[in-house]
Amino acid sequence: MPERGPDSEIASAHFPVEPLDAYNRALLANVHPSDWVNPRPAARYHLVVVGAGTAGLVSAAGAAGLGARVALVERHLIGGDCLNVGCVPSKGILRAARAWEEARQAASRFGGPAAAGAPSFGAAMERMRRLRAAISPHDSAERFRGLGIDVFLGDARFTAPDAVEVDGQLLRFRRAVIAAGARAAVPPLPGLAEAGFRTNETIFNLTELPRRLAVLGCGPIGCELAQAFARFGSEVTLLGRQAQLLPREDADAAAIVVAALTRDGVRLELGIKATAVRKRGPEKVLEFERMDGRRGEGGLRELAVDEILVATGRQPNVEALGLRAAGVRYTPKGVEVDDRLRTSNPRIFACGDVASKFQFTHVADAQARLVIQNALFFGRARASALTVPWCTYTSPEIAHVGLYERDARGRGLEVDTLTVPLADNDRAVLDGEDEGFLRVHLERGTDKILGATLVAEHAGDMLGELCLAITQGIGLGSIASVIHPYPTQAEVVKKAADTWRRGKLTPRVQKLFRWWFRIFS
Ligand SMILES: Cc1cc2nc3c(=O)[nH]c(=O)nc-3n(C[C@H](O)[C@H](O)[C@H](O)COP(=O)(O)OP(=O)(O)OC[C@H]3O[C@@H](n4cnc5c(N)ncnc54)[C@H](O)[C@@H]3O)c2cc1C
Repeated sequence: MPERGPDSEIASAHFPVEPLDAYNRALLANVHPSDWVNPRPAARYHLVVVGAGTAGLVSAAGAAGLGARVALVERHLIGGDCLNVGCVPSKGILRAARAWEEARQAASRFGGPAAAGAPSFGAAMERMRRLRAAISPHDSAERFRGLGIDVFLGDARFTAPDAVEVDGQLLRFRRAVIAAGARAAVPPLPGLAEAGFRTNETIFNLTELPRRLAVLGCGPIGCELAQAFARFGSEVTLLGRQAQLLPREDADAAAIVVAALTRDGVRLELGIKATAVRKRGPEKVLEFERMDGRRGEGGLRELAVDEILVATGRQPNVEALGLRAAGVRYTPKGVEVDDRLRTSNPRIFACGDVASKFQFTHVADAQARLVIQNALFFGRARASALTVPWCTYTSPEIAHVGLYERDARGRGLEVDTLTVPLADNDRAVLDGEDEGFLRVHLERGTDKILGATLVAEHAGDMLGELCLAITQGIGLGSIASVIHPYPTQAEVVKKAADTWRRGKLTPRVQKLFRWWFRIFS
């Protein structure tokens, strides 16, 4: 079953893992062993965790580590999206795509050897499967059993405010965590299901490169995979409703990624609405129109491709959980929680993609730690107090933490903004990676950092210093006195701090210095 068809909603719960080679068999032996026997349930658990993605695994391991009696239920693959069909496989193939691109450019940019020989997409995907399998023991059913957790494989369904049923067995609890995650939201596009399409759940099963690929959705997942497949050699068209790629990011940051994708051969169709898909022999024809209604070149258009990747957003898994029986309120946007991540049933908490507007692995992890405190120890930790960074792993990357300027102004805060171009950073110039910038927003008249955006080849790795500063209330002025090794791209943070410090020289102080150097001569 290579693609998703009309039954996709149902199929989604148990998407296929293909090909069944040694690596994927090793993965499955860890994350869904076929011979697994569910344990006999305890009389009552301190904590029942529904879903074994990042949020569920961290909740379960944390609670068990503190001595709680814990049951963990997973209906398909332990590790959830991140390990199986998200961060891990995507970053695995992004790395291969970058290596290919660098090899292609080695001669023209660095005087290196000209790349020769046919590249192998199959080998790049096999490498990804090998690495994913190698990482998977960390999330294995066996490892979690070893931590003293009762691991159940099967569909969890609440049958009462204090009970979950799985595989015909009843698990009673004092507290429960809903960590059921999210899946790709599939737009109701006429003909899409019949023509067949891929999502993050099936794209990593490919073993052959699609000659032509349409990527629907211009958010982080769409951009990352569009660039990777273009670098592998697909003719990629990236289509999005918004006029701006990565609409959450600053326009000039997104523009740098647009330029990079265009250089890599990605064709962009932004500000469009897909209207239908139809099969034409072996190919799929995607129909779309411009949102501004322009005719002629901008009117109804057609795009013939071999594969369609749907990356138009995420939909929380709230169905089939028996949430009504548990007295848990939810909407199609997810399980409703308060700032302490408690649902409308005070015994039940929710965290991760199923209940969060920030759908990232590190947020699922941070929220799970918060749930352990609040659910088991009468903690009062608040989700809104978390400082949340994120990164889109295109080349270059865009990383962000804290507030954007518009958010700060929306909260009535006046801001001072500093932008340092990477072209001013020696290492970025030497690396040939100087397209980018660091932008820092400060509370007006102070060095308090409200937010930052960094566009750089390894922006995600470089952002940690600013995350620490915001979380611990370290002002930009303090960073000016931190020695950074030269030459590094991370020095751009110190450069911003130095720039801020120079701006602190008021005319009065400057006058004072001038006077001093006159008498000091
Ligand atoms: C292509 C892609 C790339 C990504 N890259 C990144 C990245 O680079 N960095 C990053 O931070 N984030 C990334 N993410 C997001 C990240 O994967 C998610 O934020 C993270 O996996 C959320 O974890 P979770 O535990 O909330 O949910 P999930 O990982 O979705 O886990 C939920 C689990 O619950 C199970 N479940 C659902 N219903 C039931 C039920 N009734 N009974 C039993 N089990 C159930 C599901 O089968 C699933 O295993 C990416 C996502 C995608 C799709």
